[in-house]
Amino acid sequence: MTQQFWDSKYETMSMHELMDVQLKRLKKLITYVYNTNQYYHRKLSDAKVTPQSIKTVKDIEKIPFLTKQDLRAYYPFGLVCTSVDDIIEVHASSGTTGKPVVGPYTRKDVDLWGEMMARALYANGLRKKDILQNAYGYGLFTGAHGFEKGAQKIGAMVITIGSGNTERQIDIMRDFKSTALACTPSYCLHIAEVAEQKGLTPAKDFHLRLGVFGAESWSEEIRRNIEKRWGIVAHEHYGLTELIGPGVVSECEYKKLHINADHFYPELIDPNTGETLEFGEEGELVYTTLTKEAFPAIRFRTKDLASITQDICECGRTLPIQSRIKGRSDDMMKIKGVIVFPSQIEAALMQVIGVSDNYQIVKTKNRDIYTLSVEVEPSEDRYKEGHLDDFEKRAENEIYRILNLHVPVHAIPPRTIPRSTGKAKRVIER
Ligand SMILES: [Zn+2]
Repeated sequence: MTQQFWDSKYETMSMHELMDVQLKRLKKLITYVYNTNQYYHRKLSDAKVTPQSIKTVKDIEKIPFLTKQDLRAYYPFGLVCTSVDDIIEVHASSGTTGKPVVGPYTRKDVDLWGEMMARALYANGLRKKDILQNAYGYGLFTGAHGFEKGAQKIGAMVITIGSGNTERQIDIMRDFKSTALACTPSYCLHIAEVAEQKGLTPAKDFHLRLGVFGAESWSEEIRRNIEKRWGIVAHEHYGLTELIGPGVVSECEYKKLHINADHFYPELIDPNTGETLEFGEEGELVYTTLTKEAFPAIRFRTKDLASITQDICECGRTLPIQSRIKGRSDDMMKIKGVIVFPSQIEAALMQVIGVSDNYQIVKTKNRDIYTLSVEVEPSEDRYKEGHLDDFEKRAENEIYRILNLHVPVHAIPPRTIPRSTGKAKRVIER
């Protein structure tokens, strides 16, 4: 009999048992950082928190948040709680604004990461017999490394191709008979596009059955497009360099994002006031790494907006469920008083017949006032048909239906928008 869960003990424990595990680990964590790191010691002392103050998991709320600014202030190793000698691997975020965020790992942290990624990929359906084409960019970025560790722990074969060189991706995918693909959703669509240009049919001419995607926001509509085009099941991954990389949540066969809450303690807050919200409400995700050694993040503000529920899942896992990310509070735009997330525009566009997966949201600033427009590529066939004003009107109507906001849409020739082998740039400013 094949096992249903990677780690049934932790994935199916009762809420009561989970809270016991979380409390035990939280107490140990607070004692650890209090005694090993000056920054944390001072921060806890200022908030009048000692290791003895943690009596229930809710006592975590007495500790001030950790922000990206804190991480930058202590760049690169100021928040490390072990000796720097004990670090065996380092990653970093892209750092488009200011210094990058550094993710240091001890041997125990690397093992934990592999374990969390194995749990996530196993829940996606990856097994030992699979051949995973790892088309995330190798380098400082966590993505490729996390997927490699998890897949190898399961015993799958990992093709360490990295991102880019799309023609070669296609050849290798056919020759090696890859059954699973790891990359950003937009790169997966680009691979499909190039394969089609070569006269191949992605759903028929390959052996892929599974896609494990992340590192950028993508709507359910894009997920359905990917699944149809490739003939695969596509799963979402969520994680952050500040926490461990991918592996914070595991998407089960019912496409529910189960939080690995035995290692990552989730909270939800009001992004404006910092007040704790109840599960079920929508707010900013805040995470505490309960068991990391080199750099434990305590109450890290992710800026990602989502909700969390304790619903029973058909898969049998009892770990709490996180919704898809609605957007990052940083990506939120306010246009004529209306709150707009790029994901909402994507969802609207994907309702239009003849649309491709390629679009760009253009923000234009005129005397401190932002206006928005959308450039979208119709499919080749739709473009040849002409009457593109009908197409544009439809797209504008769909956006209006969701946002109650008039956003002009311009149809542009196919293959005009630059393609990305990593994270797609969906919003540009002119
Ligand atoms: Zn589930």
